[in-house]
Amino acid sequence: MEIKFVETKNLKTKPDVSKIGFGTHFTDYMFEMDYNPEEGWHEPRIVPYQDLQLSPANTTLHYGQAIFDGLKAYKHGDKPVIFRASDHMRRVNVSAKILDIPEVPFDVALAGLKKLIYIERDWIPTGKGQSLYIRPFIFATDDYLGVKVSKQYKFLIILSPVAAYYAHGFAPVKIMVEDKYVRAVRGGLGAAKTPANYAASLHAGLVAHEKNYDQVLWLDGVERKYIEEVGSMNILFKINGEVITPSPKLQTSILDGITHRTVLEIAKDWGIPAIERKISIDEVIQAYEEGTLEEVFGSGTAAVISPVGVLEYKGKEYVINGGKIGEFTQKMYDYIEGIHMGEIEDKFGYIEFAE
Ligand SMILES: *Cc1c(COP(=O)(O)O)cnc(C)c1O
Repeated sequence: MEIKFVETKNLKTKPDVSKIGFGTHFTDYMFEMDYNPEEGWHEPRIVPYQDLQLSPANTTLHYGQAIFDGLKAYKHGDKPVIFRASDHMRRVNVSAKILDIPEVPFDVALAGLKKLIYIERDWIPTGKGQSLYIRPFIFATDDYLGVKVSKQYKFLIILSPVAAYYAHGFAPVKIMVEDKYVRAVRGGLGAAKTPANYAASLHAGLVAHEKNYDQVLWLDGVERKYIEEVGSMNILFKINGEVITPSPKLQTSILDGITHRTVLEIAKDWGIPAIERKISIDEVIQAYEEGTLEEVFGSGTAAVISPVGVLEYKGKEYVINGGKIGEFTQKMYDYIEGIHMGEIEDKFGYIEFAE
């Protein structure tokens, strides 16, 4: 399938990335492709970034049949690169399947992504911790108020230059263990990157913010006992020299994070036991009491690694590693950032060039 390029002369002035935070500015172009049952996915094209026109009866607005992903592009010298692009595009289809959205042709989606990044390469910021955030997403486009799986869809990729996630340097966050609200349950949509999971998490996040916590840590929706993940991050614990983390393979209500996989692969390479298994909040608290809970951190594309300084559970605050960034957490962050920036050899083959 040929990817058409609709050029514009009307280019934007690029912002000072250090001042714009996350997801506020968008580049000049976007990738677009449509689906209907007759033609399948068709007309892949790169067009000027523009508003969409939707019917007020658009089924996504009413029933939320949509999925998304998030990944990042960097520059190695003057070459635009994407971190684990193929894995992210494969996950687009994992999410699509859960929402009954027809899978996108992987080769076309990946080629479209790479072409878009190449065209927009001057938008990739190169400061420390900065990147070009990539947001692929698919949503239903039937205009119909009945509840059913849509016949038509749109796939888009938009790009946003983003500053370092930690405006004031890499710093630990405060997390509230959520024992009232739940995000996703077994048999639900937790394994998909879909807006519904975020809708389910907004109120708990707001309550946590009001209490001065940065995010919530979700427990399983059935027993409120086993640890699942943080809103947009997976969670890892370093206990007695081992990295222990909930498993997206065993717990189908958590997202199979690609940063999570990256951390586990690197830890194993470093000879540190990295174990994916069920872990209860009681076990974490017990490790804390016994003094074996060494470090806690989150993993996700947006922040990459997020050290946890405080966990709150049932009204009590547990200060991890004296509230300071753990040694392993820091080393992991520096290593992954080094691969992103092209300063550390990419021995795992995570970097894909956009040409
Ligand atoms: C995106 C996301 C993550 C992190 O996944 P990455 O692939 O590492 O970015 C974790 N949990 C949820 C719910 C997410 O949506």
